[in-house]
Amino acid sequence: MAKILVTGGAGYIGSHTVYFLRKSGHSVIVADNLSRGDRANVPEGILRVVDLRDTAKLASILREEQCEAVIHFAAYIAVGESTKAPELYFANNVGGSTSLFEAMQQAGVNKLVFSSTAAAYGNPQRVPITEDQPIAPINPYGDSKVMVERMIELLDQYRGFHSIRLRYFNACGAEPEAGLGERHDPETHLIPLVLRAVLTGKPVTVFGEDYDTPDGTCVRDYIHVSDLAQAHINAVEHLLNGGAGGAFNVGTGVGHSVREVLSAVEKVTGRKAPYISGPRREGDPPRLVADSQKLQNTLGWKPVRADLERIVADAWEFAQRHGA
Ligand code: UDP
Repeated sequence: MAKILVTGGAGYIGSHTVYFLRKSGHSVIVADNLSRGDRANVPEGILRVVDLRDTAKLASILREEQCEAVIHFAAYIAVGESTKAPELYFANNVGGSTSLFEAMQQAGVNKLVFSSTAAAYGNPQRVPITEDQPIAPINPYGDSKVMVERMIELLDQYRGFHSIRLRYFNACGAEPEAGLGERHDPETHLIPLVLRAVLTGKPVTVFGEDYDTPDGTCVRDYIHVSDLAQAHINAVEHLLNGGAGGAFNVGTGVGHSVREVLSAVEKVTGRKAPYISGPRREGDPPRLVADSQKLQNTLGWKPVRADLERIVADAWEFAQRHGA
């Protein structure tokens, strides 16, 4: 069992990973500046409120807590915002990471799991997407993640870091028993917005119905946040056991359209999901589906909550408890 620093552990995916790390017997310290995360997501006593750009403080936390590895989530994630203010994404996502890596270097910690994204592939040439497809992000958010991935490759090469970069597809679902779920502010993600529409009666907008897909709406690979969290645990344990690093896609391999999500919500909730048709959203590729064979073969990971209705049911339970 190891002591692990989790940056951004007060956020959506980070808090689920902290929950499962502790369940697996690991000790966790969370570093989060709470700019977008929620203190209530972190168990008592393990939160250190710190900005990643405070290198000295991070290094002293890593030293004092004797951390053996870092799982790095802390970042801004809103694509739209990144197109309006890219500099925020350079400062926070890239600058924060540079400072964290410097702190790790100072503290002698060289095992790292990094939260990356399918946005690294932009409009993919082929679907399902394998890790060897061209890296070609189409918005500053995706670019900020790719820049950090490149830094990590160089640190692996020149500084003896051992790192795994996980490229997530569409994280969704919740762990209602643990009081954890998706609550971004503002919320931009499809499933919580459709559930909000069910709860409030105010329709969600479907962004485009004229794509070259079976029902005309965009297809995405929806991965349960708890399966995603488990991928981080497999990854960090693999590194701690001396395993090799690299980049890995995390998805189910199955795509669902926006319309299929609406149907799943209606089935799970037993209510109408009100929606209106809207224009395409800028920068939305028609289909994003992961090939996760590399992750499955190398890290022995498998999604166990891949069923869309299961995902929606967990998200629905969380939404009912915590309101729209
Ligand atoms: N979407 C939609 N209406 C919304 C939010 C999202 O139709 O209010 C669509 C979006 O165009 C995409 C899919 O739902 O095809 C998933 O979008 P989300 O923002 O959840 O994740 P992304 O794929 O952008 O990471």
